[in-house]
Amino acid sequence: MIRITEIIEKAKTYLPAKDIALIQKAYVFSAAAHAGQMRLSGEPYLSHPLEVANILVELYLDGPTIAAGLLHDTVEDTSTTLEEIESQFGSQVSKIVAGVTKISKINFSSKEEAQAENIRKMILAMADDIRVVLVKLADRLHNMRTLEHQKHIKQKLIAQETLEIYAPLANRLGLYKIKVELEDLSLKYSKPEIYTQIKEGIKTHEVAGDKYINKVCKILEDILNKNKIKGRVSGRIKHIYSIYHKMETQGLTLDQVYDIIAFRVIVSSIKECYAVLGLVHALWKPVPGRFKDYISMPKANMYQSLHTTVIGPDGERVEIQIRTEEMHKIAEYGVAAHWKYKEDGTRISEKDVEKFSWLRQILDWQKELKDPKEFMASLRFDLFQDEVYVFTPKGEVKELPEGATPIDFAYLIHSQVGDHCAGAKVNGKLVPLNTPLKNGDTVEIITDPNKHPSRDWLKFVKTAKARTRIKHWIRNEERETSIALGKEVLEKESRKMGLNFQKLLKEGNFLEVAQEFSFKSEEDLFSAVGYAKITPRQILNRFLPKEEPSEKKEKEESVQTSSLGVKIKGIGDVLIRFAKCCSPVPGDPIIGYISRGRGVTIHTLDCPNVKRMEPERQLEVFWATEVKNTFPAKIKIICENKRGVLAKIANTLMESETDINSGSFHSNVDGKSEIFLTLMVESSAKLYKAISALQKISEVKEVSRLTMSERRG
Ligand code: MN
Repeated sequence: MIRITEIIEKAKTYLPAKDIALIQKAYVFSAAAHAGQMRLSGEPYLSHPLEVANILVELYLDGPTIAAGLLHDTVEDTSTTLEEIESQFGSQVSKIVAGVTKISKINFSSKEEAQAENIRKMILAMADDIRVVLVKLADRLHNMRTLEHQKHIKQKLIAQETLEIYAPLANRLGLYKIKVELEDLSLKYSKPEIYTQIKEGIKTHEVAGDKYINKVCKILEDILNKNKIKGRVSGRIKHIYSIYHKMETQGLTLDQVYDIIAFRVIVSSIKECYAVLGLVHALWKPVPGRFKDYISMPKANMYQSLHTTVIGPDGERVEIQIRTEEMHKIAEYGVAAHWKYKEDGTRISEKDVEKFSWLRQILDWQKELKDPKEFMASLRFDLFQDEVYVFTPKGEVKELPEGATPIDFAYLIHSQVGDHCAGAKVNGKLVPLNTPLKNGDTVEIITDPNKHPSRDWLKFVKTAKARTRIKHWIRNEERETSIALGKEVLEKESRKMGLNFQKLLKEGNFLEVAQEFSFKSEEDLFSAVGYAKITPRQILNRFLPKEEPSEKKEKEESVQTSSLGVKIKGIGDVLIRFAKCCSPVPGDPIIGYISRGRGVTIHTLDCPNVKRMEPERQLEVFWATEVKNTFPAKIKIICENKRGVLAKIANTLMESETDINSGSFHSNVDGKSEIFLTLMVESSAKLYKAISALQKISEVKEVSRLTMSERRG
């Protein structure tokens, strides 16, 4: 079991005292929290966080990251709370621990390829701080190193998950060393026979010996010396998984895999890299198509190097990588190499650390890429910044755009689930349907066959699928309503015209009419009537006896008179109401206003409300000359509060043949009274005649016709 002193010693080589103190404190806390707990290996549990911290210190990570490594299992496996971690170690450490704990809770039950990619993306998206992923990878690496203590079935599952999720994640972040170790350990447990076979095969391979490696290294070193280039040379057997991968994808046996050894030349400048390449190619014949220049075109994970394969001293293929020290650091540590120092060697400040949006950083690196494939990869990165990854209750990952709601999720699952979505639970709690989903949420949709999409949903859904389906449903729904309404209107009008609608319907008469109007079906025709695109008379006239006098037809075309005494140009029998605000009476200049679903409301032209109306919904209307009805009109009388004045008013109105419909009386302190009356009059002329008669009463000070604004005042 590694000791904390070893970790501290390593940390002291690059971290300030403040960070060392933080690491020490985290160690004490973790030791107390995990006290008494054991690993499956029989070792104290503390050995695990210590090993994780050691992996992190070897990546030269900062104090909070190493402290978080020591504490990473305390919240999940002990009674420690995140609040405690925060109060003891600050928000940076607690955020990293929270992130690692969150990732540990992800259920990886589904094994599809696309699923794996989604989970990888989700982990990256969830961890708004890259250090979360680094601690998680260190955690996984140590668990893989100690996988022998797990049960056989569990070994295979964990190995598979590592291969699908964590090794590609390490690769994406350029953590080459971790990636390689994760891959080899995964192969060891998922395909133990193949692993052993390759391992044994390498030992007996003719070009795998130290002698061979030394020989080639010596030749390369000589080249450097002769040309006065300072640098170092090394040779190593490629990792087992990469050999396995090559055998698998190219269908080769181990004997056919020549380049199992890779040599590396590390020099101090880019110029020297290309110089060494030229010298190597002059000495050994390059294999065509194997030269790759990752210096001018870095990989998406910012890897840079020159790769070439040549025919070596014994006629065998030799792979050589040439790079600078800086490139080597990035090749080994990836994103972690960038963590510690900026390019100019200055340390990243605390503030920068917080601002360090690694995703943006990667995007910046990728902006310089010219290779279309790499560019596509960067585009995908760009895209997934705006994506959210959530789980079904069964643990499947679903991808949604940022801001997507449970409704979007429901439609993603199935159109029927969306159409009958009645409620949603996020992480087990009921939430409003417009709640934006977050990365890692588990979403459960409650359906009810009687529930249907609502127009309101359109205000917050984010996916095209949800939008389209909701609109589709609403259109269908409106169509059904309009068909029913159209039929109803036709039936009413039929009765007025002495026709039997049901009989006409049964005999199939409407299909022919529908076709004349170029509709496909009777229903389309009824729907058009419901939407008032066609008047019922336009249809029903066809069923009237032919000998109908022509004058009736003319009347149909001309202005219609409403039973209430208002004529509207071009419109037949529509529902008419008189506005309560201005109570128009015949003789008043009037205007119609189309109110949705409530017919036409008639206002006086000078009504204050008219000024606020949309002009396109205003309608020219006239009083019919033959009106014999009476209409309500409101007046206000101010008079002296004297005995008998009410009787005088009533008498005057009676003499001017005007009925009082209703009234109210208010007496004021100053001896005046206000009387509000609703009169029933035939015309404005009669109303004003009555008003002037009232004004002649000596106690009456003032009489006025009321509009809404006056009543308000
Ligand atoms: Mn752990």
